Amino acid sequence: MIEIVNVSKWYGNFQVLKDCTTSVAKGEVVVICGPSGSGKSTLIKCVNALEEFQQGSITVDGTSVGDPRTDLPELRARVGMVFQNFELFPHLSILDNLTIAQEKVLGRKRDAAVKKAEQLLERVGLSAHAKKYPLQLSGGQQQRVAIARALAMDPIAMLFDEPTSALDPEMVSEVLDVMVTLAREGMTMMCVTHEMGFARQVASRVIFIDRGEIVDDRPPEQFFGNE
Ligand code: ADP
Ligand code: ADP
Repeated sequence: MIEIVNVSKWYGNFQVLKDCTTSVAKGEVVVICGPSGSGKSTLIKCVNALEEFQQGSITVDGTSVGDPRTDLPELRARVGMVFQNFELFPHLSILDNLTIAQEKVLGRKRDAAVKKAEQLLERVGLSAHAKKYPLQLSGGQQQRVAIARALAMDPIAMLFDEPTSALDPEMVSEVLDVMVTLAREGMTMMCVTHEMGFARQVASRVIFIDRGEIVDDRPPEQFFGNE
């Protein structure tokens, strides 16, 4: 589903990604870990073209990310992304946060977009909050809205960039529960996270990045041992 081949990236003279090669098959959940500043976030942002890279190739379901002919808004709709800081539209209601891209990017009719949004809000346990605005919700609730918003586009894969790192500890599990359910349903996922319990529970593989280099890439049983 996602093929990353010999990807290198520089910021000026600083090489942030060094010849990274890995892949995520359909239905796999790959967890990316490593020290702060090692390039984890940059790597997943390259997958949906939020960052450019100078060498190598990335394809998503056969579409080459670096190809200038690739329709980037469509690619970003098909590969949902969830950020550390939620990145909801603060001036839109929760419902409209879930409908706007369905209407503007996918061209869905308002009724269909609202129906889809309502189903997804129910699924993440937030039906009662549809008319509120993001800043009226807790961090954990906002992050569940962000996941629902990405799912509203019927993505073929989902990218998560430290989705629980900005949350108060008591809200971490409500977000991880949604992610575990998605994983068990067979969603293809790449997740940058320090939540090793999540990795043990659902990861197909754990990738360790150090100073821009993939230095380890194996199943969680091997990564953590079997104890
Ligand atoms: P991680 O997600 O592993 O914490 P990042 O991918 O965010 O790491 O960043 C990797 C490195 O690249 C860091 O040293 C960071 O400071 C640097 N970096 C990130 N974005 C930029 C940028 N726009 N310009 C220059 N350096 C950057
Ligand atoms: P994350 O790891 O969650 O992406 P960061 O705090 O590393 O967040 O980066 C936040 C923003 O700042 C990003 O847009 C990144 O590109 C930019 N950035 C990070 N490090 C640098 C840097 N050394 N120079 C310039 N921009 C940077």
